[in-house]
Amino acid sequence: MIDTHTHLYSKEFDTDRDAMIQSAINGGVSKMLMPNVDVDSISGMHDLVKKFPQNCFAMMGLHPCSVNENWEKDLLTIKEWLNKEKYCAVGEIGIDLYWDETTLGFQQNAFKTQIKWAKEKKLPIVIHVRDAFNECFEIVDQMNDENLTGVFHCFSGNLEQAKHIIKYGGFKLGIGGVVTFKNGGLDKVLPEIDLEHLILETDSPYLAPAPHRGKRNESLYLNLVASKLAELKGVDLKTIDEVTTKNALELFSTVK
Ligand SMILES: [Zn+2]
Repeated sequence: MIDTHTHLYSKEFDTDRDAMIQSAINGGVSKMLMPNVDVDSISGMHDLVKKFPQNCFAMMGLHPCSVNENWEKDLLTIKEWLNKEKYCAVGEIGIDLYWDETTLGFQQNAFKTQIKWAKEKKLPIVIHVRDAFNECFEIVDQMNDENLTGVFHCFSGNLEQAKHIIKYGGFKLGIGGVVTFKNGGLDKVLPEIDLEHLILETDSPYLAPAPHRGKRNESLYLNLVASKLAELKGVDLKTIDEVTTKNALELFSTVK
């Protein structure tokens, strides 16, 4: 299976990072895709690609919560790396109005700029959206075309929002620990959505699935996300594994 969104370089893993990655690999999660968040997360992420070249893959982007008045300077660094190294996606990028509404203007500009770069480089985008579906849709509606693909990571919206995303044509829904939460709401949405639109993720160290909710998440727990999805879709685990892996490899086509 492929964990399409995991922050393996986070300080939460400083004490046992290699063992944690190895236990995910041993547990069937053979590939882990790392979204970048800011200028400071880049070197730790690159270190892991060097150490686990078959298993760990990097993205490049500036997270909306890291967009502040320095966004133009930070994006220059992001752009330099995008031109220098190979990445499997531009991410994570998007709009977050939960933590800070005052930076909306900066966030919109940074989001649009990074979408443009993804199109030029023919890379998928990994979108983070929180309390900002309308603002995010406004931009993707404008910029979507046959060259744009991506994922709405950690999807936890309603059926109408899921259908809006699927209508773009090149976008998937990233399903993570929220699927296991009581009152997470996805139990009402996912039975209506075909498996071909879904990929799996943990977003570790955040959003641990039940029964680890509230504790540190890790890529191994992708198995719990997959099991819950199998239950909701009424199919076996093997089908979830095969279809979501195929979907992820199609979207992130440089991951081999
Ligand atoms: Zn993330």
